[in-house]
Amino acid sequence: MRSSRDADVIVVGTGPGGATVAREMARRNKDVLMLEWGASRPIKGTYLQYAGAAAIPGKGLLVTGDLCGMVRGITTGGSSVFYYGTAFDPPLAMFDACGIDLRPAIEAIRSELPLAPLSDELMGPMATRIMRSAQDLGYSWQKLPKFIDQSKCRPNCHRCNYGCPEGAKWSGRLYVDEARQQGARLVNAARVEQVLVENSQAVGVAYRRKGKIHQAYAPKVVMSAGGIGTPLVLRKSGIPEAGHDFFFDPLIVVMGTLDRIRGGREIPMAAGMHREEDGYVITDMTVPWALHAVLNAEVGRLDQVHRHAQTLAIMVKIKDRLGGRLTDRGGIRKRLTEEDKVKIYKGYAQAREILAHAGARNIHRSWYLAAHPGGTAKIGDIVDSNLQTRWENLYVCDCSVVPDAWGLPPTFTLIALGKRLARHLNSEGPAQRAA
Ligand SMILES: Cc1cc2nc3c(=O)[nH]c(=O)nc-3n(C[C@H](O)[C@H](O)[C@H](O)COP(=O)(O)OP(=O)(O)OC[C@H]3O[C@@H](n4cnc5c(N)ncnc54)[C@H](O)[C@@H]3O)c2cc1C
Repeated sequence: MRSSRDADVIVVGTGPGGATVAREMARRNKDVLMLEWGASRPIKGTYLQYAGAAAIPGKGLLVTGDLCGMVRGITTGGSSVFYYGTAFDPPLAMFDACGIDLRPAIEAIRSELPLAPLSDELMGPMATRIMRSAQDLGYSWQKLPKFIDQSKCRPNCHRCNYGCPEGAKWSGRLYVDEARQQGARLVNAARVEQVLVENSQAVGVAYRRKGKIHQAYAPKVVMSAGGIGTPLVLRKSGIPEAGHDFFFDPLIVVMGTLDRIRGGREIPMAAGMHREEDGYVITDMTVPWALHAVLNAEVGRLDQVHRHAQTLAIMVKIKDRLGGRLTDRGGIRKRLTEEDKVKIYKGYAQAREILAHAGARNIHRSWYLAAHPGGTAKIGDIVDSNLQTRWENLYVCDCSVVPDAWGLPPTFTLIALGKRLARHLNSEGPAQRAA
């Protein structure tokens, strides 16, 4: 057995998946080393900070051949620093079919994290207006549960979009902080390149930091670098099949203006509905000025850029068909299928109807975006039901392992997977050490 050992477990990436495993293992007194590509600067909730972590082309911002832009957060906490905190229930049947029971983990999460729809006071005027219009049309448009401690929210605050400086919105950052309080170590600006494998067992990782290659060794390695980051590392580590046939939940934003309203500063995705039979989810989507400007400029609607405070916006996000591949450098090769576009147009028509009924005019839509890459190292394909790869002691815990597209925001599911994996790693720890 290797004598050099830097930790009991190395966790690569600190999004919801990695942060949860790290926190749970640290709470069980394991020596945890977190390696994170991004930085750990205090969250300020500013556009500049968001842009640095999520909008640099080729790093946070990736673009497909359809010019569909996909954003991810390269920072401690991963994309959850910038997510909207909406908590959709995990798809139990999908995981049951893989022999994975997420119920105990879900129950624990419900008792540990704040999870509730926004109070009427925190629902912005635009989300409220859209909800009333949809309900008036007979749709079952409901407030959505949020991972937000609403007692910490400030009125008229919309900074969740750029990271929550109040610590009200749960993000992976909070679990990383907890893990560190329990003794875990975090190394930032550490981009893992490869898992080190000896005799079919993972023994550590090689990572690049400040232009130099370093090695770290541990008897367990957990890859949690996200739906794009993880498969790239797996490929360099003797698992070349990773990074194919994935989903990324394409979406559009449908916008219309209403002269009688002044808003634009509210928490997005406050309410909406899941049209499972039609393959999409549709919610309000009031974004800050800078993102509003980008969404309009992209489709040539420069006449709408200055109308942010009067713009009602609805997001339509579809369950796309599995397909495409990642390039070895992290490029996304995936095009929307005709079936995907039919779903988008159906949702677009419904969003138009709701906006028009609310009294909005100049209704138009954004270009395509995407936010949830996953399925690039699926359970049953690249990992087993314990999330272990073909290499012993190499695990994956992030959106990569989701076995199929289901078109809904995945964070709740990823926290549940992280809890379950930590329990598994802990249970096999003593045997491993004895060996
Ligand atoms: C704008 C936006 C809004 C969203 N809203 C919601 C929502 O309301 N509800 C919801 O459930 N989901 C939402 N999501 C999606 C959610 O944030 C992601 O699905 C989730 O964060 C994915 O978690 P993960 O653990 O798979 O990876 P990530 O969060 O992507 O984390 C991966 C981490 O790994 C790091 N990393 C990558 N490569 C390497 C490497 N080689 N070495 C070291 N570190 C590496 C990254 O810096 C990052 O910290 C949203 C996403 C976006 C972008």
